[in-house]
Amino acid sequence: MIDIIYADNAATTKLSRAALDVMMPYLEHAYGNPSSLHRPGQIARRALDDARNDIADILNCVPQEITFTSGGTEANNQAILTAVSDQKNHGKHHVVSTAFEHHSVLHMLKKLERSGFEVTLLDIPEDGIIHPQQVAAAVRDDTCLVSVMHANNEIGSIQPIDEIGQLCREKGILFHTDAVQSAGHLPIDLKKQPIDLLSLSAHKFHGPKGTGILYAKRGIHPANLLEGGEQERGYRSGTENVAAIAGMAAALKEANRNMEANTARTVLLRDLLIAGLETIPHSILNGSKEDRLPGNVNFCFEGIEGETLLLLLDQKGICASSGSACSAGSLNASHVLLALGRPRELAFGSLRLTINEENTKEDIDQIINAVTEGVARLRKSSPIWRDRLSGRREFYL
Ligand SMILES: *Cc1c(COP(=O)(O)O)cnc(C)c1O
Repeated sequence: MIDIIYADNAATTKLSRAALDVMMPYLEHAYGNPSSLHRPGQIARRALDDARNDIADILNCVPQEITFTSGGTEANNQAILTAVSDQKNHGKHHVVSTAFEHHSVLHMLKKLERSGFEVTLLDIPEDGIIHPQQVAAAVRDDTCLVSVMHANNEIGSIQPIDEIGQLCREKGILFHTDAVQSAGHLPIDLKKQPIDLLSLSAHKFHGPKGTGILYAKRGIHPANLLEGGEQERGYRSGTENVAAIAGMAAALKEANRNMEANTARTVLLRDLLIAGLETIPHSILNGSKEDRLPGNVNFCFEGIEGETLLLLLDQKGICASSGSACSAGSLNASHVLLALGRPRELAFGSLRLTINEENTKEDIDQIINAVTEGVARLRKSSPIWRDRLSGRREFYL
């Protein structure tokens, strides 16, 4: 392996040693199908039961409320489909969500619109935090679902889901939260918190890729996306990914156990990183400084392209991400930054660094130096930047 500084934990995380150790036996020897009646099958069945019990303990819910899925995308799709096909919501055709949800929520809602549902996407305030009042103003008599993420994956802003959930409960509206980014970083207590549906993904908390959880409160029956066998009580057909599910439970346990210590350490590093990058002229931090995931840093730098900056950083072994994505030759600005009100040109110049407790003070210093140098270099070769300096164009920042 090359020597890298990994600062892209919102995209995915390293599999933890504890998770790998728990997974190995199921990959090597204990390969039974949990639906089989023989002993190897029953060993696999026990692994599933143990994982479900452990996860239910951590989230403070009952095991029957947990359905294993192939990840956060599937859990989000299934949560939305469940809410809109719930018997109790018959005849309700309105959904409230936000403009900065993950695409697995937004694209599913687009699909609903094509089949006759009406969707209200809330605007994002400057600090990246939805106000419960916005939700209160948007819900109607025919609203069957409110879906607001726990923490945003690009700008890390933490949403007031308890207040929003409470408001939904009082009105008899189902509340879903995409907790993929917060799991393992923020406490979740499903007995105390007014949440009906919740999505998790193992690979965002040092578990394996391709596995996740849909929590559906007792009395809500998940609508199945896949037709087939009776796995997961018929809510999710297909032979279970036993090793991954066992690994997910181990990873969540570990993350939960170390949450306080990890947060304390990561927040210190994050704030150093923010302070260092703020000294770059014509830059701005995206999202709230206070209500922010411990490891999230997201900046716009005027006059550069985020993708080019990523390549410069990659040459120095620094792994980061930019909200913009190049698809089919055209550059798309991040829908999150646009929702935040950043002009398109600024949104193109964004950089997301998502660190964790394994990063060091030296990593942070190296990142600050590399970004400062990279931004200066890109600006020097930009004709638009020259126009700004000469006053032919105005600065945004
Ligand atoms: C990564 C992510 C997802 C998708 O999870 P997968 O397991 O990769 O499908 C959904 N929501 C958020 C907020 C995410 O960060």
